[in-house]
Amino acid sequence: MIFDEEAVKGMDEVLPFTIPARDVRGRVVRLGTSLHEILAAHDYPPVLRRLLGEALVLTTMTGTLLKDEECQLTFQVQAEGGVVDLLICDYRLGELRGYVRHDAERLAALDGRESLQDLFGEKGYLAITFDLAATGKRYQGVVPLEKPSLAQVCEAYFAQSEQVPTLIRIGLDVEGERCAAGGLLIQHLPDGEEGRERLHVRMNHPHWEHVAALAGSMTAKELVDPTLGLDDLIWRLFHEEDEVRLLSATVLTRGCRCSAEYYRSVLGRFPAEELDEMRDEAGDILVDCAFCSKVFPIEL
Ligand SMILES: [Zn+2]
Repeated sequence: MIFDEEAVKGMDEVLPFTIPARDVRGRVVRLGTSLHEILAAHDYPPVLRRLLGEALVLTTMTGTLLKDEECQLTFQVQAEGGVVDLLICDYRLGELRGYVRHDAERLAALDGRESLQDLFGEKGYLAITFDLAATGKRYQGVVPLEKPSLAQVCEAYFAQSEQVPTLIRIGLDVEGERCAAGGLLIQHLPDGEEGRERLHVRMNHPHWEHVAALAGSMTAKELVDPTLGLDDLIWRLFHEEDEVRLLSATVLTRGCRCSAEYYRSVLGRFPAEELDEMRDEAGDILVDCAFCSKVFPIEL
């Protein structure tokens, strides 16, 4: 797929911003080529292309919230026995990847029913994991899939796990010639410092209500409109605010850590007898990367 560079503004970028007088921070993101490359590695039906597109936008917006730039964020939706039983995306240093594991026959039998409950069953949950490079620490929050969309589940995650009022809007265009997804996330941090423990969450603060009403008017269509740059989207919503600070944008690419060298080093830690059990007739060990749908024959 080829994009006209001139016509597609802010593609494969995330642009953070703050509205200091309102104690609000936000991000706008748009995925194009990166999304196309991730989806092209698989043969997913439209419902899974939309699901993964939405998850990748959420992963990017959430992954860029932490100040530790080398932090890895993993966005994982899981459900035992679901038609879809695993969706996993991760973000690190501008690199994105993701895949969906599903039962194609059972998915076809859903016959167009495609709510989160249809896809994941009744017991699905979202786990968001932050791996902090600076300290080696990891923390995780988990919320059930008790909302109509992944974006709303993600809002619930922030309200419950982090006590941060959050509004998210998503736009998807993954079925026609173009392959695009866009997102807007805003959060209210009235206590100033990010990441501080909060004893309670107040959803009706006047600043938050004001900014959430403005941001809530963003349409899915605008978020994927190739003639609107990311800064144009922010301007549309907040041009009447006294000050909106745009921070530096991060370029997004599809990226995976799979390589023959990587798998060789992992397998090198296994005892010889176990390696022998893994070998095929040619003596190689075949390792596949679910993110890329690639198989690596590893000689050891
Ligand atoms: Zn890979």
